[in-house]
Amino acid sequence: MTAATAPASAPSPTLADRLIAAQFGARDGVLTVGGLDVRTLAAHHGTPLYVYDAALARGRLNALRAALDGFAEVYYSIKANPALAPLLAAEGIGLEVASGAEFLLARAAGAPAGRILFAGPGKGAAELELAIAGGIGEIHLESFDEIALVADIGRRLGRQVPVSIRVNPAPAAQGGAMRMGGKPTAFGFDEEMLAEVATAVEAEPGLALGGLHLFAGTQILDAAVLVAQWRHGLDLADRLAGLLGRPLTSIDLGGGLGIPYHAGDGTLDLEIVRAGAADLAARVAASPALRDARLLVEPGRFLAGPAGVYLAAVRTVKTSRGQRFVVTDGGMHHQLAASGNLGQVIKRDFPLVAATRLGGAPIGDTQVVGPLCTPLDTIGRQTALPEVAPGDLVAVLQSGAYGLSSSPVGFLSHPMPAEVLVDDGHVTVLRPAGRFEAPLVNLAAPIGGL
Ligand SMILES: *Cc1c(COP(=O)(O)O)cnc(C)c1O
Repeated sequence: MTAATAPASAPSPTLADRLIAAQFGARDGVLTVGGLDVRTLAAHHGTPLYVYDAALARGRLNALRAALDGFAEVYYSIKANPALAPLLAAEGIGLEVASGAEFLLARAAGAPAGRILFAGPGKGAAELELAIAGGIGEIHLESFDEIALVADIGRRLGRQVPVSIRVNPAPAAQGGAMRMGGKPTAFGFDEEMLAEVATAVEAEPGLALGGLHLFAGTQILDAAVLVAQWRHGLDLADRLAGLLGRPLTSIDLGGGLGIPYHAGDGTLDLEIVRAGAADLAARVAASPALRDARLLVEPGRFLAGPAGVYLAAVRTVKTSRGQRFVVTDGGMHHQLAASGNLGQVIKRDFPLVAATRLGGAPIGDTQVVGPLCTPLDTIGRQTALPEVAPGDLVAVLQSGAYGLSSSPVGFLSHPMPAEVLVDDGHVTVLRPAGRFEAPLVNLAAPIGGL
């Protein structure tokens, strides 16, 4: 195995080594995904290419379900990777969406409307109407204007709209690498305002208030922090039930379950999740205000991230003033997160390997870059790839969540990569590769105008 994610001096095994051993495999020095050799997949579907392993995604879901042991249902937050929504919906879980288009994706993926939730700080009238008319299971209210807007749409459509209040928890309940609660935020209502918000929602006869939604932070690797947030969610649920004077029917504890990306990252300890969930389940069972509520968690990254590999082909290897560069056909336009430009303060490398030269002797200090005309397009800053040549493949592991779905695919107008799913040895093309085309017409032949 190569020492691929860290300087050559770092001790092995690297995160990439561990992931390959645990989740993938290698045959004659070539990475396999779901038992299939990535060289063959790339030859059939071209590069760059996203490959997803169905068994890995299902395995993540089953491991989480086992740890929760009935404490909460699992919903999948589809913005992490819409391409995996049909696979996960087929396992019987609900879907969490963040736009009208995602609602349509979720329906097309096979989720019943009643098992779809809609959250987001600036939902529009058209997408709300689409979701409400379509019978969505619950809308998470995030502003006073939205309370009025949803009530108004419900009235017009003659529907009672199932809603929950999205709460931005107080700082004491915080944790996670990318905090989304506890400080000023556009998401939800500050918990300090809960009484006022509950009054406003209750004043709308067309809104059926079931409970609350709490989502405080993403990429949480410390299971104790996660459980503490869930506990705080139950505290808030108790408070809300007290304010309403009736039991809650819905408590959404959010997503945020993390996965390791960088050398030194730990793995979310599902044993701690299991013990915490059992403890909280006992508390819920003992509480008349909470025991009839449907509890759920809504992870995206945890389910999808480990199941995806982003493959790119080497185009050239060059040296500039002593620095070795491997230039590939893939980069930040498809895998922004791996380039470190998706909000990371410190740009650290994702697990990245020479997928057709596993086991090759590492050469220290190699940067792996994409084809875009910007130094931001760097997907490996301090790798130790072995000797590679044009045509070799580089694989970015942990690419199944917030890969393609969060990348600036329009930048430099490259075609979209194909996305393929490997399931029990069979390959399904989820998205065919795009083609070269000029997407906009020129001024001599305009599409239209006022
Ligand atoms: C994005 C999002 C999630 C999923 O977050 P992960 O960190 O990927 O688990 C869950 N809930 C809401 C409301 C979100 O916006």
